Amino acid sequence: MRITVLAGGVGAARFLRGLKAAAPDAEITVIGNTGDDITLFGLRVCPDLDTVMYTLGGGINEDQGWGRAGETFAIRDELAGYGAGPDWFTLGDRDFATHIARSQLLAGGHPLSAVTEILCRRWQPGIRLLPMSDDQIETHVLIDDGDGRRYVHFQEWWVRMHAQVPAAAIVPAGAADARPAPGVLDAITGADVVLFPPSNPVVSIGTILAVPGIREAVAARTVVGVSPIIGGAPVRGMADACLTAIGVPTSAAAVGAHYGAGLIDGWLMDNEDKAAAADTALTGIEVRIMPLYMHDLAATADIARAALDLAAGLT
Ligand code: GDP
Ligand code: CA
Repeated sequence: MRITVLAGGVGAARFLRGLKAAAPDAEITVIGNTGDDITLFGLRVCPDLDTVMYTLGGGINEDQGWGRAGETFAIRDELAGYGAGPDWFTLGDRDFATHIARSQLLAGGHPLSAVTEILCRRWQPGIRLLPMSDDQIETHVLIDDGDGRRYVHFQEWWVRMHAQVPAAAIVPAGAADARPAPGVLDAITGADVVLFPPSNPVVSIGTILAVPGIREAVAARTVVGVSPIIGGAPVRGMADACLTAIGVPTSAAAVGAHYGAGLIDGWLMDNEDKAAAADTALTGIEVRIMPLYMHDLAATADIARAALDLAAGLT
């Protein structure tokens, strides 16, 4: 079976661990969000690709869900000695090595898709990891914080401002002129099922869908999504601030309806959201209710299995 997954960072990576356990023989392609990518200290940092790569490759900081296990922070401290910023984005020494290797390969002329493949040779994540595009796309957030109305990089809003400043708009800058990376459209077109893990609907899945051609290709397949919203709140993080920015209420039903019957065929919502299963906004989408907390590998594999079972019943 061929499964293609559109992936953000932490939510996606955890789900993918469960999916690998639930479907050990499947050929899994992961299309990773690169809208969170940022250049820091002259290095290209790809947080979502790395979170998937480290998690599936056994190198993740399990408590945080991002960054490397066993990190040290000598480089950060040395940079601070020079007053070199920014100081609000944490990069450990081991993580720095990834960004140095990536930046060196990019400077050598390799596209991001080729670079990602090379980095994955070390980590052997057991899935094929493709960036959504080789073209640079960065999520920018329109804010007004007293210094005037301006766009800031997503990471500045998310990490430095903790998404506390309301976002008037969230835009995938560069997406309109971007092309899907090599293999992306084929992976969607050739998939038996496309899955949306419980990733941020706006800045993870939404950004991937903004790359020209991807939404149409996905819509033509059998698609099942897992809600990242349980009981009216994100399980972790600040996805509610992103949903508010695009005028979507923070509820499992509203997110399912936001994707819509034209895009997804099946939608998993948590037991806590059972009452919303019959919401007319979800008409045309097959809804299943089950526990959606990814507490451990077994619980996560159950979620992945339910998504695959739902998809199988829909094709
Ligand atoms: P990010 O790029 O690191 O923010 O990660 P993603 O976009 O892949 O996923 C973030 C989303 O994962 C958040 O909106 C969380 O609500 C969701 N999430 C995290 N843990 C869980 C969980 O155990 N269950 C569900 N259903 N969603 C989760
Ligand atoms: Ca992310």
